[in-house]
Amino acid sequence: MSTDLTAQNNALVDTGQGSAQWMERYARSVMGVFGTPQRVLVRGEGAYVWDADGRRYLDLLGGIAVNALGHAHPFLVSAVTAQLATLGHVSNFFANPLQIALAERILELAQAPEGSTVFFSNSGTEANEAAFKLTRRTGRTKVVAAQGAFHGRSLGALAMTWKPAYREPFEPLPAGVVHVPWGDVDALAAAVDDETAAVVLEPVQGEAGVRPAPAGYLAAARRLTRAHGALLVLDEVQSGVGRTGAWFAHQLAELNGGEDVTPDVMTLAKGLGGGIPVGATVVYGTANTHLLNPGQHGTTFGGNPVACAAGLATLHVIERDGLLANAVTVGQRIEDGVVGHPLVSGVRGFGLLRAIQLTQPVAATVASALLDAGFIVNPVAPDAIRLAPPLILTADQADSFTAALPAALDLAAQELS
Ligand SMILES: *Cc1c(COP(=O)(O)O)cnc(C)c1O
Repeated sequence: MSTDLTAQNNALVDTGQGSAQWMERYARSVMGVFGTPQRVLVRGEGAYVWDADGRRYLDLLGGIAVNALGHAHPFLVSAVTAQLATLGHVSNFFANPLQIALAERILELAQAPEGSTVFFSNSGTEANEAAFKLTRRTGRTKVVAAQGAFHGRSLGALAMTWKPAYREPFEPLPAGVVHVPWGDVDALAAAVDDETAAVVLEPVQGEAGVRPAPAGYLAAARRLTRAHGALLVLDEVQSGVGRTGAWFAHQLAELNGGEDVTPDVMTLAKGLGGGIPVGATVVYGTANTHLLNPGQHGTTFGGNPVACAAGLATLHVIERDGLLANAVTVGQRIEDGVVGHPLVSGVRGFGLLRAIQLTQPVAATVASALLDAGFIVNPVAPDAIRLAPPLILTADQADSFTAALPAALDLAAQELS
């Protein structure tokens, strides 16, 4: 597909420059909030990406749990390009069939009752911001969140986020949020009262280092919120859309303990568009859905046909290709393949959302050694490596990683001694 315009864009990026020159230009033109990028990536295919120097990497981070179908998936590419060539954007003054179809599909997968609805946006932050605003409409302002939580960086989402280093430079944040120790049912019970608008939880805390809710915790949160007339908001921005081996993590028996933990609100983003930005705030039931009335929230881009085509294509391929089962199998294979090493104390998480827990704070060293060996992972904490690869990852690709891991760990061990 060669047009004058793509030729013009290509001329801007196909300069024959290597990573070093790009990095120099990056430092002079792109705001430095992300620190120094690890590599300059120019191309992807399946579970692999290539850098500006032509080196190939197995992508075990998937754009932070985003590229559910890997890179340049033909079905996603054709769905998005066909939609863009048909109708790209119309604003929410108009309905479009893609948005309606995606909302229906999400509600179906979420097993949401009659009367449930979806608000579309462009990111996890926006999905949570909408949820936060919705909780205010209960007439209560207290929100109970968890220590370790990450819900985004806008002021509302940031108020629910735990990490003091993220929050403190931007205070005062919207008031009313309290944080309780993660996974502690008694602390949750003590915090939730008749003034509580909502309890907001990630079924698996992602940014905190892939920390699943302990057995019984989500069920307790569901019981407590129901007893006090508060909303249960589950942030599945990272854990949703098949990542853990279920469509949504709260549907996993390991996390719900066989109890009904259906939330009042669920937020999605990351994997939903397979790489195209899509956020969704799923509101369960007629009463909750009418908390936000016409004019009380909005978005220009949210729910646009291209983004929704990407969402539909992603959900379709996950189902068609059995990627939930693949996430379970390949995730287990990674866990089994991480063999005993003095620097490894265990693997946690579900499906293809995993963390390798280290016994020393050497995650950055291990990640950098793995990158040099051709594997992209994420040192999510000083002592934990996060894996959130494409759901299409094969057993062979997983094996290539677990085979390369010991050498990276040995290198970190050497640096320690
Ligand atoms: C990434 C993430 C967010 C924020 O999503 P953005 O798309 O970066 O705005 C919110 N909640 C959770 C659990 C996340 O992992």
